[in-house]
Amino acid sequence: MEAPRRTLVVHGGAGDWSEELRAKAMAGIDRALDAGLAAFDGGPLEACLAAVRVLEDDPLFNAGIGATLNSEGFVEHDAAVMEGRDLRAGAVGAVRGIRHPVDLARAVMDDGRHVLLVGDGASRFAASAGVETADPAIFLVDRRRRQLDEWRRGDGDTVGAVAFEDGHLAAAVSTGGYTGKLPGRVGDSPIPGAGLYADDRLGAAVGTGTGELFIRLVLAKFAVEQMASVNAAEAATGAIDLLDRRLQGRGGIITVDREGRAGAAFNTGWMPWGDRTDATP
Ligand code: ASP
Repeated sequence: MEAPRRTLVVHGGAGDWSEELRAKAMAGIDRALDAGLAAFDGGPLEACLAAVRVLEDDPLFNAGIGATLNSEGFVEHDAAVMEGRDLRAGAVGAVRGIRHPVDLARAVMDDGRHVLLVGDGASRFAASAGVETADPAIFLVDRRRRQLDEWRRGDGDTVGAVAFEDGHLAAAVSTGGYTGKLPGRVGDSPIPGAGLYADDRLGAAVGTGTGELFIRLVLAKFAVEQMASVNAAEAATGAIDLLDRRLQGRGGIITVDREGRAGAAFNTGWMPWGDRTDATP
């Protein structure tokens, strides 16, 4: 098989997906892959962003419009981006009223002064950076209201993407966290090394699952470091094994290595994910 020139891997969150939602989730993953592939001309980060934006717009996924509600009944988003070339990263935590949180993460990276902005300061930065804001009420979708009523913890469906192009790697992630989290809680997603990591010398990874455990294990960095000696699929499996063995955690991860091979692993009921490669010069 010809070596891929471009690879995009996308996931829609590891969790307990009901049978009836699985086909819809895979349709969403396909739309995200289409959008990401179409954006590759701008580089691997643009491909990740385009894919994640599609999933943020889909109320099925726990990101953007469909994000889970916290214990007080409102949405706070986390999101991040990272590029493997110079290890540049940008992230936002517990932000409200941002239409596409992943765009705000990208604006933080482009601005370059900081890696992570949270809460109100991040919202004010959005205004100055020209990132689209939204009425926080648009994020209150019925399915999430019902989930808050049931207060089910562990319904993780963060979205994420990793991409490879001509030796360069990128990662993007966006989430509402999980139902019933405390206001102000920041998960693993916007923390480089925990929820995402990209290094052109090794690989890229994006995780989904109980964020507190990903932070404690620095799990995305662990997966990426594995790719010094194993391929993307083995690194993904190794990371989820560690999550399981060390902290009895549940979650999933997608990976791409420096040769453009894709990987994914999860130990939850299911995780919608998919990958596309392109070998054409
Ligand atoms: N990792 C996310 C968080 O803890 C949730 C998830 O992926 O399900 O914020």
